Formats: sequence, C-alpha cells, structure tokens
Amino acid sequence: METAQYDLIVAGGGPAGCACAITAARAGASVLLLEKDRFPRHKVCGEFVSPESLHLLEWLLGDQRFPDRPEISRARIFSLRKTISLPIFPPAKSIARYELDAELLAAARRAGAQAKEEAAVLEVNSGTVCKIRCKTETFTARAVVNASGRWSQLTQHAAKKNQSKWIGLKGHFCEAQAPNSVDLYFFNGGYCGVQPVSESSVNACAMVRADAARSLEDVFSMHPELRKRSRNWSPLFPAISTSQLYFRQPQTDSNSMLLAGDAAAFIDPFAGDGISLALHSGTLAAESLVPFLQGRGSWEDAKQHYGNAYRKQFAPAFRNAARVRKVLTAPPLIQSMLLSLAGISPFSRALVRSTRIQESAKSR
Ligand SMILES: Cc1cc2nc3c(=O)[nH]c(=O)nc-3n(C[C@H](O)[C@H](O)[C@H](O)COP(=O)(O)OP(=O)(O)OC[C@H]3O[C@@H](n4cnc5c(N)ncnc54)[C@H](O)[C@@H]3O)c2cc1C
Repeated sequence: METAQYDLIVAGGGPAGCACAITAARAGASVLLLEKDRFPRHKVCGEFVSPESLHLLEWLLGDQRFPDRPEISRARIFSLRKTISLPIFPPAKSIARYELDAELLAAARRAGAQAKEEAAVLEVNSGTVCKIRCKTETFTARAVVNASGRWSQLTQHAAKKNQSKWIGLKGHFCEAQAPNSVDLYFFNGGYCGVQPVSESSVNACAMVRADAARSLEDVFSMHPELRKRSRNWSPLFPAISTSQLYFRQPQTDSNSMLLAGDAAAFIDPFAGDGISLALHSGTLAAESLVPFLQGRGSWEDAKQHYGNAYRKQFAPAFRNAARVRKVLTAPPLIQSMLLSLAGISPFSRALVRSTRIQESAKSR
C-alpha cells in the first residue's frame, strides 16, 4: 500500500537521524523518521557526551536539557604499567543512551517530523523520487538520509582481510560516588571505560578483540585495578553487546542517499566523539539538503556540499583517532613510554584536542 510523499525520509532514529530530522523539519521540510527499534532502549556506548556537542545538543533538544547529569572533567588512563590523568575542559557530560536517544526522538516529533518506531527500512530504490520499503508500508520521498548506524540492512561494509575483530560490551553497575572522571583501563586485547551515570551508578563499556573476551566479567578480570574496583558491583540490567566493529574510511553518500553518523564512518570509541560526530553530521546533512528540498539547488549540489564540508570538519578527527588507537594498543613497554609523554601537559592537551572535531563544525 502506498502512503504519503515526504520531502525527506531519515532511516534510523539515533543521534544522527534525530539531528537530521529536527534540522530539516525546523527548516520547513516534511520529514519522516523511520526507526527499527522501540525507544527507550539501552545501547552499547560509553555515554561520554563530549563538550563539543553540548551546545548543539541543547539547540536540538530545545528546553529539554540534562542539567543534573554528571559532569566529566578528567580522563584517567590506566595502562597495565602506568596511570595518567588528563583534564577535560570544558567538561563533558555523562548521559545514558536510554534517556538521550528517547529525548532526541521526542524533540524530532516536537520539531514537526513524523517518527515511526519498529519500522525498519528494508529497501531503498532511488530515482527522481525515492521509494522506501518497510515490512508493511512503502513511502516515497525526494531525498533519503541513511543514519542507520555502522551495521544495518542499509549499511554493510565488508571487513578487510586480516582485520582484527572487535566487539563492544556494556552494563550499568551500582557504585556510590564514583569520581567525576572517565577511567579508561587498557589491557592486552582492548580497553574498558568506566564513568558515573548517576550518583549511585557507573557505566562500564568495553571494546575488546572478539578472541580476548566474551563478557564483561572476562573484561573486568583483565586489568588488576578494574578487577579490584568491580568486585562489589551489582548489575542494574543484563549486560548488552554489539555486533563486530570495523574501522574504515569515511563515505558520505551511497545509493543516492547521504550517510550520516556511524553510517558514514565509525570513530574509535575511546575518543568519546561518536555521538558528537553523529549530531554534527546529521545536522550538516539536513543543512546541505535544504536548498534542494526548497527547489533552490540540485541533488548533486547537496551531495557535493555535504561531502566537502564533512571532509573538512571531521576527517582530521578520524585520522588522529586512528593514530592514537595505535599508541593505546601498542605492546605494554612502548605504551607506557608513550603514556609518559602524554602525561606532559601541553602534549596531553594536544592529544585530547587532536581527536576532536574542527572548530568550524561547532559554530551552531
Ligand atoms: C563500545 C562503544 C563505546 C562507545 N562509547 C562512546 C562514547 O562514550 N561517546 C560517544 O560519543 N560515542 C561512543 N560510541 C560511539 C557512538 O555510540 C556512536 O558513534 C553513535 O551511537 C552514532 O550514532 P548514530 O545515530 O550514527 O548511530 P546509532 O546510534 O547506531 O543509531 C542508528 C539507529 O538506526 C536504527 N536502525 C538500524 N537499522 C535500521 C533500519 N534498517 N531502518 C531503520 N532504523 C534502523 C538503529 O536501531 C539505531 O537506533 C561508542 C561506540 C561503541 C561501540
């Protein structure tokens, strides 16, 4: 059965999809947002919301903010041989995805977008008008943005030969008065981030090689400090995991769709910039499409504008995150030498800054 035609259909209701839908709807476009799951739901994520995204998040949410969520003003890095502490200024926030994603979806509806949950996009046929097929309905639109994350029906990228297989694991645990820091525990085969999500609980989120650990219990046993810290933790919900994580070069369009957020590229989680990149790239995709949707420019112009602006604003963050990943997964001796360097103040500031998006992306 054929239903209404929209200016824009956004596939995926995570941070990138919601940012895109809100921005386009506020510019006057008719927008349909299609989300596979029903919110709220837990999501594997460190829930570190970087300072570079807080201003944009506030703009997207309108008056809905998260004033009482923990501020994260320090990163402590625990390697097996050495611990360093780096300031985070201005501070980041810790916001559970359970709340963040549901608030963003509500904001998209307030902005005027129609949002359907439990509506996975199964197929997109592009042409002058794009046809989008879900399980029971078909929709049409002038443009489609794929914001369905790093691995979905619409976003599948073959792993490179011999590429390590990484997975993500996450759980919330009772811990009263945890320090206001993101604590990154590095061990052979991956790392685990721990930060407060409320006064009485912490989020523990790990990225590990699939052959090194299968559960958070395995992860906790891999670093002596983390083993000690987690001894008295009790889980607040059953731990969740991701499918495999692949790193690849950013791609900004495919099959006549703009790609936003993780669908365009996946940045190493330790950078704590994935949500920020999703919010900024989703917004940028909508801004690039508005002239086309208003009949003031072509689809090709929109595609080119988005690709150029994306590369300028975000590509350095991906490059630098990949370099830092090499340091943090180096053998223990080399890692501790490099971490000693990172403990020196100007270097540490540069290290934190290097994985951040460029100033021009923050102007909103
Ligand atoms: C282990 C780990 C830790 C992380 N820690 C952090 C952190 O601390 N800070 C940070 O900033 N980033 C972190 N990230 C990265 C961050 O989670 C992502 O970058 C961010 O979620 C990207 O947002 P997105 O909207 O692009 O994708 P997603 O958040 O994945 O949203 C995509 C949405 O699309 C939906 N979907 C999928 N397929 C379809 C379909 N066919 N049709 C319709 N909808 C569909 C999904 O259900 C989902 O809701 C971490 C990632 C991992 C794996």
